[in-house]
Amino acid sequence: MNFYEILGVTPDSDPAEIKSAYRRLARKYHPDVNPSGAKKFKEISRAYDTLSDESKRKQYDILNGFFKSAGSKASSAAESPKPKQEKTKTSKDKKSENKSTDDKNFSQFFGSIFENTAKSKKTEKNMPQNGENITTDVTITLQEAVKGTSRTINVVHSELCPRCRGRKFINGAKCNVCSGSGEYSQHKRITVKIPAGVKNGSKLRIKGEGAEGRFGGKNGDLFLNIHVESNKRVKYDGADILCNVPITPFEAVLGGEISIKTFDGSVKLKLPAGTSSGQKFRLSGQGLKKNGKTGDMIVTVTIEIPKHLSDDEIKLYEKLKKLSAHDIRENLLNE
Ligand SMILES: [Zn+2]
Repeated sequence: MNFYEILGVTPDSDPAEIKSAYRRLARKYHPDVNPSGAKKFKEISRAYDTLSDESKRKQYDILNGFFKSAGSKASSAAESPKPKQEKTKTSKDKKSENKSTDDKNFSQFFGSIFENTAKSKKTEKNMPQNGENITTDVTITLQEAVKGTSRTINVVHSELCPRCRGRKFINGAKCNVCSGSGEYSQHKRITVKIPAGVKNGSKLRIKGEGAEGRFGGKNGDLFLNIHVESNKRVKYDGADILCNVPITPFEAVLGGEISIKTFDGSVKLKLPAGTSSGQKFRLSGQGLKKNGKTGDMIVTVTIEIPKHLSDDEIKLYEKLKKLSAHDIRENLLNE
């Protein structure tokens, strides 16, 4: 909706009509009388802020195509390019002359905008102010980091108070919407997609979701500082997943297929007989999908002793000890 529609008036409405439309709507939606009207009230106030100010309204009209010729410089310049272009087609000689006229009109056209802007700056200090960036921390699990996730972020925007428009006082009394602070806090929920493979400590930028710019200034950006919960066994490097997988002594000796749980289900790894701790195995295509490529899973195995061994198992280990004739530390100093 444009500002005229918001106030229920037309681009032809005069200042008095706009003022009475604003008053009528403001009474209806003022947060004091209508707790659910805050958003609407803000819209109305913003529209009125522009349409009640002659120079702001003119700029708004020019930029949004509502401007009607009323003999002003801006309108005649804005409407003139078409016929002049036709002329230049038919007569080369007049080209330079027409060009200079166009330039003149062009500068008049923009001149009037800048003049108005400069004037309003002086009178109301309405300099465009860019909104500030907002930074927030987000902690995700390793699984979320690997697979990608989304988070709904509650951002508190501090905006210019819609009632007093930052002036803090109205007719000498403290503004009752912002309690005289001139600011108005608004909660906004933003759902942000966190891409798969995001690194711990990385910063995501969501453009334009920071604090609101004022008087035509740009909005700030929202930055998310990503913290990935650490996992003792699993890490990733680019598109590769690095994991440390425990194996039992008998799996190490006998080899065979083991099953490794992944975030997607499980993968099988064939251990050769006589596998040692620290040996690495590459499972190609089991890594992250990133930038059109799929990484690998690099498994480092570690022989670990099961915590609760039964008496029978202990007996078997004792038997193994007796049977073992080979001294594994024989060449300790020669290797
Ligand atoms: Zn206020």
